Amino acid sequence: MKTALLTHADCLGHVTPDGHPERVARLEHILHALEPLDLDRKTAPLAADDDLRRIHPDSYIEDIRRSVPVEGFRQIDGDTFMSPGSVSAGYRAAGAAVRAVDLVLGGEAPNAFCAVRPPGHHAETDTAMGFCLFGNAALAAKHALDHHGLSRVAVVDFDVHHGNGTQDLLWDEKRALVITSQQMPLWPGSGRPDETGAYDTVLNIPLAPGTGGAEMRAAYERLAFPRLRAFEPELIIISAGFDAHQDDPLAELNWSTGDFAWLTSELCQIAAEVCEGRIVSTLEGGYDLKALAEATRAHVEELMKAAQ
Ligand SMILES: [Zn+2]
Repeated sequence: MKTALLTHADCLGHVTPDGHPERVARLEHILHALEPLDLDRKTAPLAADDDLRRIHPDSYIEDIRRSVPVEGFRQIDGDTFMSPGSVSAGYRAAGAAVRAVDLVLGGEAPNAFCAVRPPGHHAETDTAMGFCLFGNAALAAKHALDHHGLSRVAVVDFDVHHGNGTQDLLWDEKRALVITSQQMPLWPGSGRPDETGAYDTVLNIPLAPGTGGAEMRAAYERLAFPRLRAFEPELIIISAGFDAHQDDPLAELNWSTGDFAWLTSELCQIAAEVCEGRIVSTLEGGYDLKALAEATRAHVEELMKAAQ
């Protein structure tokens, strides 16, 4: 079986103002880079409101729907904008996560990557922020737990920014282990080691500006991997942000494309040990177009190797 790739043209219809880093070209470059790969290509469905209600209250979902402008842009947070296509894009990004979980847990794909935008890991229970509308990775976790009846899932977030939204949405979910590494200090400012969740199921790994691949690997081997193995998740969800890349303009970590490949390979190895290789990965950040496309391709190629 092949690695599944979930995406939808609607994710290109979420337009941001000129100069905004989270732009349409990001996904265009990724899709171009993935074009030659032998993937099981799937259309991302729209999420159902019942899916979104697993993580967001009705009032928030309605707010997002009502905030969509008829034309131009509407700013809903310091750096989060909506265009006429944003609601559809948000529903596709969330729907991709749900469908990817269904495919992997249903045995139709060994693992899956969701090439979607807007990203999701900054969206809190009732707050859109950081380019994010809906908490895609947390939704994947809740769907796996509540719809599929899993007992334990893990989310690993290697985006350079703290996954504050995923942490908020899964803070009191004892069935979900959340591991997130981030540059600190850096926006949004949260993600200290003493933020451990209501049931000690949140592991924050702050990394100093300038942290390179060797130090990143050591931190994951010392802190993240033992925790992940001990938790024995039945599914691993990856919040795959590529803005820790050395070429990224929004942060100061120094990971190479090979470091993203290494980290993905290690997560695939752990998944093979504890959950028959089941991984659902969803795109978060990454703002240097060339580095983003390269690192995403390297990430997906490791998923493909593990799928064979
Ligand atoms: Zn980021």
